[in-house]
Amino acid sequence: MEVEPAINESSSSLSSSGSSCGHWYVRYGVCIACKSTVNKRQGRAFDYLVQGLQLSHEAAAFTKRFTTEFYCLNEKKLHLVLDLDHTLLHSIRVSLLSETERYLIEEAGSTTRGDLWKLDIDYLTKLRPFVHEFLKEANEMFTMYVYTMGTRVYAESLLKLIDPKGIYFGDRVITRDESPYVKTLDLVLAEERGVVIVDDTRDVWTHHKSNLVEINEYHYFGVNGPEESKSYTEEKKDESKNNGGLANVLKLLKEVHYGFFRVKEELESQDVRFLLQEIDFKLLTKEA
Ligand SMILES: [Mg+2]
Ligand SMILES: [Zn+2]
Repeated sequence: MEVEPAINESSSSLSSSGSSCGHWYVRYGVCIACKSTVNKRQGRAFDYLVQGLQLSHEAAAFTKRFTTEFYCLNEKKLHLVLDLDHTLLHSIRVSLLSETERYLIEEAGSTTRGDLWKLDIDYLTKLRPFVHEFLKEANEMFTMYVYTMGTRVYAESLLKLIDPKGIYFGDRVITRDESPYVKTLDLVLAEERGVVIVDDTRDVWTHHKSNLVEINEYHYFGVNGPEESKSYTEEKKDESKNNGGLANVLKLLKEVHYGFFRVKEELESQDVRFLLQEIDFKLLTKEA
């Protein structure tokens, strides 16, 4: 886990400071440094990183600052938070497939369809065109998180498809199990000025809309799709690979990354939220 150096460093310095313990790092309700019992309300749970881990608000802020400064200065990386459903892929319960779509069950996982998979949990998942290229390129510029309103079981079966070796996301996967109501950057261990979100649903990000790049929804299967148009499955088509949602968002991410690191002396005051306001997404993605 990449934030470990910060945690180790501070918990050891805290344990030596004895009575001044502010209970920064808590596991299963017990302070790591001074062993006293700590109330749940004095911080935030980070079970997605380590089971039972709770960070005080000070510890979270410290770790966020540390990660952002560490990555900014040493690796030239920002942070990217990615939604799954309708952003990187489209999943459907097998039982909801229409008659005309049922042939897809046979095609899933076949050698000719590397983009269509049947999950163990009875879902059919279609990866969005360009998803592998997107992840590979974004990974050069960003430390990436998955943040989904799906369950952990669901997220993990999808990660087997898009990140089988865990090189993109590692343990940075936040699901409904840890974050059931809204999505929040409070759970992302990086300073907000260095975090870009890509999600098709704006409303779930109550407090962080200025970090958000709203990607157009990817609908492959017919069910719950836009009523006015035919689904890709009906038309036996798909979104354009080189001019679709992910390819276009990648162009924007490159601009943001370039803007952030352009002037070395300004790194400490740089903020993706201002950059996102300045960049004209429509102009950038206009068909050539
Ligand atoms: Mg979504
Ligand atoms: Zn303590």
